[in-house]
This record gives sequence, structure tokens and C-alpha cells, in this order.
Amino acid sequence: PRFEYAPAPESRAVVDIASSYGLFIDGEFVESASGGSLKTINPATEESLADVAVADEADVDRAVRAARRAQEKVWGPMPGAERAKYLFRIARLLAERSREFAVLEVLDNGKPIREARDVDVPTAAAHFFYYAGWADKLDHAGFGPSPRPHGVAGQVIPWNFPLLMLAWKIAPALATGNTVVLKPAETTPLTALLFADLLRQAELPPGVVNIVTGAGATGAAVVAHPGVDKVAFTGSTAVGKRIAKEIAGTRKHATLELGGKAANIVFDDAPIDQAIEGIVNGIFFNQGQVCCAGSRLLVQESVAEEVVDRLKARLGTLRVGDPMDKNTDVGAINSAAQLARITDLTKAGEEEGAVRWTADCALPEQGFWFAPTVFTDVSAAHRIAREEIFGPVLSVLTFRTPAEAVAKANNTPYGLSAGIWTEKGSRILSMADKLRAGVVWANTFNRFDPTSPFGGYKESGYGREGGRHGLASYLIEGSTR
Ligand code: NAD
Repeated sequence: PRFEYAPAPESRAVVDIASSYGLFIDGEFVESASGGSLKTINPATEESLADVAVADEADVDRAVRAARRAQEKVWGPMPGAERAKYLFRIARLLAERSREFAVLEVLDNGKPIREARDVDVPTAAAHFFYYAGWADKLDHAGFGPSPRPHGVAGQVIPWNFPLLMLAWKIAPALATGNTVVLKPAETTPLTALLFADLLRQAELPPGVVNIVTGAGATGAAVVAHPGVDKVAFTGSTAVGKRIAKEIAGTRKHATLELGGKAANIVFDDAPIDQAIEGIVNGIFFNQGQVCCAGSRLLVQESVAEEVVDRLKARLGTLRVGDPMDKNTDVGAINSAAQLARITDLTKAGEEEGAVRWTADCALPEQGFWFAPTVFTDVSAAHRIAREEIFGPVLSVLTFRTPAEAVAKANNTPYGLSAGIWTEKGSRILSMADKLRAGVVWANTFNRFDPTSPFGGYKESGYGREGGRHGLASYLIEGSTR
């Protein structure tokens, strides 16, 4: 089908979606060996968008071989300055075709167009610009006299930021001279396939990036392939643990970016208006389907009532619905399965005795929707205080002292991110030091920048993406050629 998006004549975008897509291997779209396919749907309408090929082990093998050839013959030996030119070209094309990518992302994922347009696509382009700048500077960046890439990177990504996760994975891999076999999530493969089209436009040499679509079994085949030297995974902690076991004892290197249960900590001296916006952004951005979402609000007891009342009033003004409307704040949940997970956990919250509040909003009849929800009277033992809901659901807990805030914030198996809201600079520094979280935001939340490392502690995984750290994980430590 053809989709036209034209909120104003100057921002018109036309997206053509083919009825079926093959795999992108060695610079060509090819059929899968088995002929199997899966359907991807628009979660806001439940309409089918396209049939997408499912890669099995034979297809993954073909992709890894293509990546190996390209790494050894073309991409590895290429001077960094030449690789940089391709990365800059990719970045420029992403910026030029940004509307097309934004509209397609919204159709496949259900996120609001404003977020896809202002965050996902520009930040994806920014990652390519940023890592393009590194490609010819690796020799002088403290990675050793002549840093070497691992070789072939097998990358598996989730559905919450399909294009942005692709950029986080592919840009540093290519900058360092690795080649790639990437497996997008089964519910959101379309922007990765449009990206394959962009790579052809950029004339990237065949085999440098290969895209194999499919479900978990395809991801498992990428991870298990003996020709893959480095595994980069973003997704659930359950699958991350399986992958860590699978590659233990092999020569493969891995980075795992897994789940989270971030605390957004509000002190009584916080700038309250700013904090309310930060709490809303922290948990309702991308429908709360964000690994670093501020899903636990820890608010100091003396201001708890005021903050919760003002928060509820603010939530009443959020616009929930058509993701293609640029005024929409909260879009669709990505899949029926994800909606069922959110529904189950919120039922558990009620059963365990937390008090549920739901924003008063009309939800569309078709599609997967969940109204913004806040739980109060939450105790640390409740499942909604411990488990990742990955939806627009906030659990509110209170604290009296900074020490209690730290203890409660750290009382989770995860350790990906945290937020602090206070006017006191010294408190920010001392809290940041004690919080077991890879990213700590102060008086802001959900800020992503290619120059900053991102990643977790504990069951949120290991390794860092972004910044100089993100390059290190694609290079053999202390390597010399
Ligand atoms: P998931 O782990 O089920 O799927 C993620 C990806 O892994 C998909 O592409 C899937 O097909 C693939 N996969 C599934 N089983 C596999 C296997 N056995 N071997 C290899 N690959 C396999 O996760 P999900 O439910 O699709 O995504 C949501 C989860 O991802 C949340 O828990 C969230 O916290 C996490 N996440 C983390 C980050 C981060 O940066 N830390 C970012 C986004 C999402």
C-alpha cells in the first residue's frame, strides 16, 4: 500500500510499502531458503502492512558468509577516512529521507509521529554523523597503536525504537571496520528494510550490512553462528540471559542491553513544574515501552500528595490516539502480546493492593491501546514495583530521606537508569554516586545523545553503547595489527 502523510504541503511524505519483502544479503533483496514469511501489522489499526521473509539457519549462514567476505576483502582493509565517507553519506541520506522513515516507523510501531520525527529519526542520523567522525581517528584514541575490529558483528534488536536501535548498533560497528548481520524485531522490520534500500542508494559495498528478518529463532541462529565474532543484543533480560549462556565458552564477545525499572526521584525542593513534565516524559514517552523508562516515581513524602495531584491533572490533558496526528502524545502499544503483558501486570498491581488511577480518555476501538495509568500505595514487594511493565504505567512510592531514596531506588534486579529532581547540586552528585544505574539524569529524563555512553548494571546487562565507549566494544582490546 501507499501511505500519504501531509499535515501541511511542505511536510508531505509518501511511503510505498511493498506487499512482500525479502532478506537483504550481499547487497541484494533475496528470497528466504524456506519461503517462510511473517506479517507485520499497524498496531494502531491492526491492518496488515506487509509480508516479510523469515530467515532460517541457511539464510543466516549466507548472510554471515557475505559479511565475512566483505570484512576481509573490502571493509576491513579500507582506510578509516574512506569508511567515514560512507557513514557520512548514510547520515545525510537519513536526514534527507527523514519524513519517509518517520512515517514508516509510526505505521509499523504505533509511536506518535512527533516522537518519530523529533527523536527517533534525527537521533539515528546523529549516530551515523557522530561515528563517521571517529572512523579515521581510531589510531589516536587510546585503543592501542592499531586497533582491530572483531570481524563480523551479529546484532539483534527490539521493536521499541526500531531505527534508532539499528543506528546504535550499525554505526559504531561500521566505523571500526566490522561488518554486520542485523536481525530486526519481528513486529517492526520495515524501517530496517527501508534502511537497506538507503544503503544501496549510498552504494555501500555489498555484504557490509546484511539484514535478516524473522522472529526469535532467526535471532538465535545469528547468535549461534560460528562465523559471528561479536554479538550485540538489545531486548529482554530473559533472552539476554539465554544468549549469555549460549556464547559462554566460545570466543565471541558480547554486549547486552536489557531491561530496566528506573526510579525517578523527586525531592521536596525540586522545581515542581519541570519535574511533572519530566515524570510524564519519563514514563509516557513511547507509551512507556522504553528500557530506561522512569517507571517508578520515588517522591519525598512532604510533597507526595501535591506531586501526585498535579501529575494526574497533567495526565488528563494528554492526547491518546491516532499516532499519525502530530498533536498526539500517547500512541498505540506495539503488539497484542505486549498489551497482554501490560494488562496482566496491572491486574497483579490491583490484586496486591495498590490503588489504580486511569486517565479519562477515549481509546480507539481498533488497535492496541492502554490508557495512562498511575498506581499509588505501592510497596517495594509489589510486582509492579519490581518487574518491568514496559507500558504507560507509573508506580508511585515515597521516601523521607536521601538515604531511603537510594535504598529504594537500588532495590531492584535492574540498574539501567535513574532520575534526580532537586535544586541542590551537591545532592545530585552524592546521589549519582550511590545509585546503581548506568545513566543518571538530573532535572531531566530520557535524553539520548550519541556522545554519551549508555548501558546497565546488574540484570540490565553489560557493555556500553554510545560515545567512545561504544567503539571500544567493537574493537579487540589492546589489539595491534
Ligand atoms: P525480546 O528479548 O523478546 O526480543 C528482542 C529481540 O530478540 C527480537 O528481535 C527477538 O526476535 C529476538 N529474540 C527473541 N528470542 C531470541 C533468542 N532466543 N535468541 C536471539 N534473539 C532472540 O524482547 P521484546 O519483548 O521484544 O522487547 C522488550 C524488551 O527489550 C524489554 O524488556 C526492554 O527492557 C528491552 N529493551 C532494552 C533496551 C536497552 O537498551 N537496554 C532497549 C530496548 C528494549
